[in-house]
Amino acid sequence: MRRKLAAGNWKMNGTPAMLAGVGALDADAGCEVLLCPPATLIAQMTDHAKGRITVGGQDCHPLAGGAHTGDIAASMLKDAGATYVILGHSERRADHGETNATVSAKTLAAWDAGLTAIVCIGETLETREAGRTLDLIGTQLAGSVPDGATAAGLVIAYEPVWAIGTGKVPTLEQIAEVHDFIRAALETRFGAEGTGTRVLYGGSVKPSNAAGIFAVPNVDGALVGGASLAAEDFNGIIGALAKA
Ligand code: PEP
Repeated sequence: MRRKLAAGNWKMNGTPAMLAGVGALDADAGCEVLLCPPATLIAQMTDHAKGRITVGGQDCHPLAGGAHTGDIAASMLKDAGATYVILGHSERRADHGETNATVSAKTLAAWDAGLTAIVCIGETLETREAGRTLDLIGTQLAGSVPDGATAAGLVIAYEPVWAIGTGKVPTLEQIAEVHDFIRAALETRFGAEGTGTRVLYGGSVKPSNAAGIFAVPNVDGALVGGASLAAEDFNGIIGALAKA
């Protein structure tokens, strides 16, 4: 059984004042609730969470420490209270030139620190229109996830780049096709661990469209950007996931 996961990505948003909303999240609805705030808020959010929700980072460096100004090591996220880290988000792939190899190295660092890695993959509109979505997803999955993945250490987030922050969402058939493909690839490579690995959908998930998306087979939850910033919106998504 895969435990459903509602994961919020606050990106470069968030103030200490916003932590008040953490206590208002519906942590007992019947699915796991995770928030990934900026690194500066992880420790305070962990205090506010009181173990009701889990907390994660949004990136880590592939190395354990050293002369890397401005970066953060996976063990530092862990020390601050994180149990997850988002890796290879399309914004990092675009803004920081992260490749599949970079993401794979960061995933190993996350595992070394005892964090669960949420590895993000997804196609651009250009790739989808060229009919190459599944090719790209297969390449990203193979290159971004190192050997030795376990269901406890890995979550995959399928996030079409063109759906992130745009209000555009793929059809349920398109989501199903990619999630089925990811599940099959995980099972081929990792056997039972692949069967147990959660696969999230991400891209403009809102309370109004969440129930439809969560009814799609092999969708084990969502990675949510904008709608995770307000507790009322995120609760709408959490509620839909708990009922799915
Ligand atoms: C994201 O940041 O991973 C994301 C899916 O954003 P949004 O929900 O705002 O589209």
